[in-house]
Amino acid sequence: MENLCDKIVVVKGFQDYTRDEVRGILKKVKLSPSLADVLFFRAYRGNLTSWGVMDDFSPGKIRIFEEYLPLIKAEIAEEREGPDGSRKYVVRYRDGKEVETVLLKIGLGKTLCISTQVGCPVGCPFCATGRMGFYRNLTAGEIVEQVRVVSQRIFPERISRLVFFGMGEPFINYREMRKALHILMDNAGANFSRRKIALSTVGIKPVLEKWTEEGPETGLAVSLHAVRPELRKRLIPFAGCYELDELLSLLRWYTNGRGKQRKVMIEYVLLRGVNDGQGDAKKLGQILQGIRGKVNVICYNPVEGALFIRPEWEEAVAFVEEIRRSGFPAYLRESRALEITGACGQLMRNYG
Ligand code: SF4
Repeated sequence: MENLCDKIVVVKGFQDYTRDEVRGILKKVKLSPSLADVLFFRAYRGNLTSWGVMDDFSPGKIRIFEEYLPLIKAEIAEEREGPDGSRKYVVRYRDGKEVETVLLKIGLGKTLCISTQVGCPVGCPFCATGRMGFYRNLTAGEIVEQVRVVSQRIFPERISRLVFFGMGEPFINYREMRKALHILMDNAGANFSRRKIALSTVGIKPVLEKWTEEGPETGLAVSLHAVRPELRKRLIPFAGCYELDELLSLLRWYTNGRGKQRKVMIEYVLLRGVNDGQGDAKKLGQILQGIRGKVNVICYNPVEGALFIRPEWEEAVAFVEEIRRSGFPAYLRESRALEITGACGQLMRNYG
């Protein structure tokens, strides 16, 4: 596939920089580096729309912020609310490219599901995003800006959790995704705890290995969707080049290695007549032995033009019960945001 990212120059903004980098820029323009703390607080904790509204700074300083640390301003091009209280936002960037960001009401909290790419190169045939193709990676700042625009929209309410389950495969945009996490976890700014963040991946093995070493240790979800390697290659084409056995071994090591005792959430989208047989459920329970975690099964959300069928609820219940017979924890999740066509079309759901 042609790498469109090489041809696109996206201008950096404040949200692309870590606090250390902002300190460095402030130093270069002969301002106190400690102002970085103030800028992080104002940009990420309140309802700041432009540096110009900070009337406790001189016009000269504001001009410097606007020139050297311009705020990336994405706009919410569309907003839709589902009957379950979920809200889908279409976030539009400066080049006109759009991604979907979904706010889910879970218990008393609000979970924001964010995107890391415009489109997705993985190409899962059951997924709306996979079927639209791939346009470009988002920069760290554009990822962070999704959190900022939605925070502003719901202010003074707050987002309590972040899940990287939206459009795109976060591990293919690893560097920018990781930098965005770093910025969003900064305690001077948005201050999200790693325990309140989860990433979803199809299991890009070399990157997953790197992530396991480098962290941060957020929650991790891995989309399996099939227990037969040939079927997995069809359902997750990009991940098909990594052997299922190797991925499972890596997850065994991830959840048990180095005394870490981490857990992983295994995602399984149920497609009627494709991967929902009792034999598949039994095998799933068997191949996951030795991995610490649980399986989340979700019924397929129909996508226009895709040739898959959503199973009946009772069939899904039977599938989950068969996994449980192996002793591995498994849960059937309701499809949140179904009515408003959640971003990835499949991954909008309870996390935890
Ligand atoms: S399901 Fe996830 S990984 Fe697959 S195409 Fe959709 S966004 Fe990409």
